[in-house]
Amino acid sequence: MSSHAVVIIGGGLEGLSIAAALTARGQRDVLVLERRTTGSGGTAKSSGLVRCHYECATLTAMAWEGIGFFERHPGLGFRQTGHVVGVGEESAAALRANVARRQDLGIDVAMVTHDDVAALWPGLETKDFAAFAFEPRGGHGDPVAACRHFAQAAQRGGARILEHTRVAALLGDSSSIAGVRLADGRVVGARAVIVAAGAWTAELVAPLGVTLPVGAMREPIVIAAPGAPVGPVPAFTDLVGMQYVRHENNGRLLIGSHTGAELTTPDGYLNRATDVELERAAARFTTRFPAFPDVVFPQSYAACYDITPDLAPLVGPAGPEGLYVAAGFSGHGFAISPAVGRICAEMVLGRSAPPQDLSPGRFTTSGP
Ligand SMILES: Cc1cc2nc3c(=O)[nH]c(=O)nc-3n(C[C@H](O)[C@H](O)[C@H](O)COP(=O)(O)OP(=O)(O)OC[C@H]3O[C@@H](n4cnc5c(N)ncnc54)[C@H](O)[C@@H]3O)c2cc1C
Repeated sequence: MSSHAVVIIGGGLEGLSIAAALTARGQRDVLVLERRTTGSGGTAKSSGLVRCHYECATLTAMAWEGIGFFERHPGLGFRQTGHVVGVGEESAAALRANVARRQDLGIDVAMVTHDDVAALWPGLETKDFAAFAFEPRGGHGDPVAACRHFAQAAQRGGARILEHTRVAALLGDSSSIAGVRLADGRVVGARAVIVAAGAWTAELVAPLGVTLPVGAMREPIVIAAPGAPVGPVPAFTDLVGMQYVRHENNGRLLIGSHTGAELTTPDGYLNRATDVELERAAARFTTRFPAFPDVVFPQSYAACYDITPDLAPLVGPAGPEGLYVAAGFSGHGFAISPAVGRICAEMVLGRSAPPQDLSPGRFTTSGP
């Protein structure tokens, strides 16, 4: 039986960011176990938006840390287009308060006018919005490139990454973790196990009596060919039309079209927009962008968010001593991935506690 100081289950953005951060802090005895290939889970389909527009101050600070990281790593495909969020009347006061809070944290963000947004995003219909905020240092990056970067950094630091290696079970009892059993029957011992298995996390920890409220939510992504050149527009979160739109690097636009809470299973969901979803996405887009009369929608796929009830991740110790989780990123995991690595590495090395408001036990009165 092999044995390691730290075993990480899941070779997505978060697991690999944690592995890189651990090795950067001198813990070289790290093994990452990935059932498929690195970055092939939720990471592969991430839209890669980077912005600090969160209600939770911890997430805001983590995303701000992420922006600094992506600015310092230009090879990771970060396009600093800026990010606009637009809201209706019922959310305008909350947006103003949110912007004020972010400004207090030193974040570069401001309320902007309808005319400002019309200049930033020519052809965008603004009249049904009540308020906008603009983050000039936001934008979008390449989650797969970031994942590769973390993997390479971890390997340079001494970590091992095993692909096509599925963990069948966690080993231990309700008091302490002992390691993992692989699907081929091999056992790997570990002093610490971090489950960063995205939408598959809850089912892995459940046999140890740890209940995590992480669901899997399917969402269609539609690609638009606008039929006319689109300049360097900011990423745009449209909280009236319930969609977000960002530039692809090939003249096309990526549209995330929210459907509501359609819970699914992370394996085996329909990997394209249905006709109804496509029609809805097209209607929302053409209402918002009437300046593109020749738009067509040549491609779609669907992805799976790992969501929690408050849409903030679960990061911290869970249940038996030595067991940690980093999951439930609810569509924010790219922007905050550098901070997740730092927080988890410091936690496992006993240097600092993770933020209380991300505690995996926050939904239970006793807590795991
Ligand atoms: C459609 C979509 C759009 C998004 N857009 C944004 C965005 O604009 N901005 C943003 O900040 N974030 C966004 N996100 C969120 C972000 O991309 C994710 O939070 C992040 O990529 C998830 O990384 P992860 O490592 O937690 O999970 P994953 O990438 O899912 O990695 C988990 C890994 O665990 C592996 N695994 C599972 N079970 C086992 C097992 N038993 N044994 C071994 N390995 C196992 C899986 O194969 C998988 O590779 C988006 C996500 C989605 C789905």
